[in-house]
Amino acid sequence: MTTLQSYLKGQWVSGQGHPTSLVNPSTEEVLATCSTGGLDFKGAVEFARQTGGGALRALTFAQRGAILRTLAKVIGDAREELIALGLSNAGNTRSDAKFDIDGAAATLNYYADLGTKLGEVKVLGDGEGVPMGRSARLYGQHVLTARHGVAVHINAFNFPAWGMGEKAAVALLAGMPVISKPATSTALMAHRIAQLWASCAALPAGAFSFVCGSVGDLLSHLGPQDVVAFTGSSDTALSIRRQENLARDSVHVNIEADSLNSSILGPDAVTGTETLNLFLTDVAKEITQKTGQKCTAVRRIYAPADRLDEVRDALVERLKDVRVGNPADEKTTMGPLATLSQLRDVRAGIDRLAAAYEVALGGSQPVEGQTRGAFVSPTLFVNRKPKPDATDPVNGHEVFGPVATLMPYSSTPELLALVAAGGGGLVSSVYGDDKAWLNEVVVGIAPWHGRVTISGEKVAGQTLPPGTVMPQLLHGGPGRAGGGEELGGMRGLSLYLQRTALQGPRPLVEALANVKPAATPT
Ligand code: NAP
Repeated sequence: MTTLQSYLKGQWVSGQGHPTSLVNPSTEEVLATCSTGGLDFKGAVEFARQTGGGALRALTFAQRGAILRTLAKVIGDAREELIALGLSNAGNTRSDAKFDIDGAAATLNYYADLGTKLGEVKVLGDGEGVPMGRSARLYGQHVLTARHGVAVHINAFNFPAWGMGEKAAVALLAGMPVISKPATSTALMAHRIAQLWASCAALPAGAFSFVCGSVGDLLSHLGPQDVVAFTGSSDTALSIRRQENLARDSVHVNIEADSLNSSILGPDAVTGTETLNLFLTDVAKEITQKTGQKCTAVRRIYAPADRLDEVRDALVERLKDVRVGNPADEKTTMGPLATLSQLRDVRAGIDRLAAAYEVALGGSQPVEGQTRGAFVSPTLFVNRKPKPDATDPVNGHEVFGPVATLMPYSSTPELLALVAAGGGGLVSSVYGDDKAWLNEVVVGIAPWHGRVTISGEKVAGQTLPPGTVMPQLLHGGPGRAGGGEELGGMRGLSLYLQRTALQGPRPLVEALANVKPAATPT
């Protein structure tokens, strides 16, 4: 039996006490165990801050970018090995595992490129400078400098590679050392990446640490210059927000939590249009990719009331041939949920929705032919009388599996109220070509979302499914989604950089901020 270790203070160490098992969710075989009992998290935080932080801040953005490029290459070189771990430990199909692994490498490479663009500087100017006095000599300029703490990254079970890679990319580029903690249940892939990163010469000592197992008292050692970036459930997010030292010391906390993402079919996307085809393809993919265990997966589907049954039949047609099974079998198109405890939660969630709505496909019953493992069928509900509030179960609870609910809308104001009833989400996808309708809908739902995608005839063949998170654009959302913001190019760096207003003699301020002096008018 493999015992997974944590990487703290530049060494691989084992915890004491009762170990947690990592299981193959298809076969229920135990693959490895880990524990963090008794590990010196206080010492790990201090080592990362002092040794790792100091080393990273001595480098320029371009040099840190070069480190990220190496980290991406390490992941790319180990792709096949990592895919195998996704299949065994996370229930991923090959395609699901590639999505996770390639997403991690692509995000690291994106931020490597950004490092190159930012260049050989350690301090960044932020926005335009402003003359402050009567003469041009007294000048104000905002600058961004790396915080002198450690970035603790806590990730969910669904993206062990991408979750770790995207958070690490942004923090390391900003100049902050990272302590990364994946969800324990699917940690094998993240653990292997951590081993490869720890053994590659690119990372300075202390720049990267890895916790394999429970978070223990790690967060209690954080202070005013530290950062927490968390992805996971709203319940865990709330317990982090309530942690006394984090509140007292104003530790920067970014939360990515639940989301009842929506997909909206426009009235003009009628039978035979490319827009309808895009909508059906994307929705079916979002329900089944990673067995619906994506924070960005579609949970609520809205179609014009007079076409509800047509859309239901078309979706059922696309979903009915999904082959649920062990991803080790090449014919499998959707693997199991990540754990047996997720299976219990998802079945309970399906039963709750089934008590209120029509079942168009699937349900919580065991999948035919599967006697063990965390398997569940793709499940589509129809809610014919949606309510614009949280008393409607579809607006109150995220079922984190291949489960979505189709609902009608009769007018744009009604649609906007229904979408908003999700309480804030990561992404909504809108399908249509009527500019006036698109304008009203997109502007109406934007305040409730971190990202809105618009798909129609003009971009057919070029669109990305709405669940695909790109480093150029923000990931996060208001309200239920946690109120956080990750990625979004430069925007993601702001979590790790302190913005300071400098005020003083113009040449000095501009030199400190690495801002080129404006050309003197002749
Ligand atoms: P979870 O149970 O909240 O766990 C998330 C992470 O928090 C894990 O690493 C977990 O460690 C850790 N954790 C548990 N208790 C903690 C505590 N008291 N203090 C600090 N950390 C703690 O969530 P999950 O079941 O892994 O993930 C599913 C949820 O994540 C879904 O609701 C989904 O919507 C959400 N999610 C959101 C996004 C997004 O970007 N918005 C992305 C993916 C998933 P252990 O595993 O060791 O317990």
